[in-house]
Amino acid sequence: MTDKPTKQPKVPSWGERVKYRSGQLHVPDRPIIPFIEGDGIGPDIWRATRMVTDAAVERAYGGERRICWTQIYAGDRSIELFDEWIPEETFEAIREFRVAIKGPLTTPVGGGRRSANVTLRQTLDLYACVRPVFWVPGVPCPVKEPRKLDVVVFRENTEDVYAGIEFEAGTPEAEKLASFLATELDSPIREDSGIGIKPISRFGTQRLMRMAIRYAIEHDRRSVTLVHKGNIMKFTEGAFRDWGYEVAAAEFADVTLSEQELWNRFEGCLPEGCILVKDRIADAMFQQVLLRPAEYDVIVTPNLNGDYISDALAAQVGGIGIAPGANIGDGRALFEATHGTAPKYTGMDKVNPGSLVLSARMMLDYMGWDEAADLILTGLRHTIAQKTVTYDLERQMEDAYLVKCSEFGEAIVENM
Ligand code: NAP
Repeated sequence: MTDKPTKQPKVPSWGERVKYRSGQLHVPDRPIIPFIEGDGIGPDIWRATRMVTDAAVERAYGGERRICWTQIYAGDRSIELFDEWIPEETFEAIREFRVAIKGPLTTPVGGGRRSANVTLRQTLDLYACVRPVFWVPGVPCPVKEPRKLDVVVFRENTEDVYAGIEFEAGTPEAEKLASFLATELDSPIREDSGIGIKPISRFGTQRLMRMAIRYAIEHDRRSVTLVHKGNIMKFTEGAFRDWGYEVAAAEFADVTLSEQELWNRFEGCLPEGCILVKDRIADAMFQQVLLRPAEYDVIVTPNLNGDYISDALAAQVGGIGIAPGANIGDGRALFEATHGTAPKYTGMDKVNPGSLVLSARMMLDYMGWDEAADLILTGLRHTIAQKTVTYDLERQMEDAYLVKCSEFGEAIVENM
């Protein structure tokens, strides 16, 4: 007999809380980690991911460490069980236990309900959307030298035109705002305009940049690039660039250099242990990552640019189906598959669990469990190198061996 699902997570007595003190995460040996299976293909990819993660932890630490999983709910499944899109208990569990992981959730099209993903990010103030993009040898991709791309995108998650401040054309609100702009600010716009607001703050920019530079330091990355359209939008995107440089100079002067300093003081040769901080205009950056991918490392960018560039980069290395992601705030993080619920494949044990598996690897890295994180990547690399793959990769490869979602997970474990 299985337990009746409850909104309140059921936490086994052996689990311990992850703590956060003085800006540091403290992870016990038996951390309680809430998970949301997700809708559509969510349960299939979650089962494979949980098996792979538990096996990696067991193999790395031989029973000294173990994750205490606890289920929480959101999306379709939550509606079905509790008639609530995201129960308050779900937010509370992520707040309290600090590290969580989720499968994809259905986003209803049209009015009514807001995207559960956006709501989770904004309510929990998970202000950085972090996407590592690198090539896994063997994955079919459209470029000649995919191995040259190895970047981590830090996309601002709470501001920009995604802040949700929009007024429909013809409504009293849009008319009121248009009249204010014309009369008070000498900025007339066409009468039949819809209006969206693009806020970008110093606070929002600087906390993102701080996180990205710290990541670069901890992961031996060589550069941090601010990507913006400051040539056109001077007081939002241009300010984003200026505020980003300000953080580097004020808080990380001992480890960062600007391009100007690099050339003036070091003739273009970056000293060991230093991180180059540079900026690129967004449109030029889309060319740069195709033409000179090896020159980029950590990318920091506002919300909209980040949305576009994350997917474009993932496509470049053939990784859309296996690209991992995380939404990270201060001492709190939610790891997630980057693709959707692919409803037509629900319950078929067919799809590629790679995105959620690699997100679990990011989660272990975030927890400081590097050995287990490395095992997951090793297992995945070997499995793909052996051409043991799910349908999405099999249809693009020659002589590949087609496996189910669960079998792909099992192969990763065997190959660790
Ligand atoms: P989608 O679920 O990502 O699926 C689009 C196509 O991508 C699938 O039909 C499949 O391609 C391929 N695909 C996706 N995941 C795959 C996997 N794990 N393995 C192999 N192939 C995979 O996008 P959608 O159909 O536009 O969206 C469906 C629902 O998901 C919507 O409600 C949407 O809002 C939601 N969504 C949620 C998230 C999230 O939770 N983070 C993100 C995006 C979308 P083929 O048909 O070619 O096999």
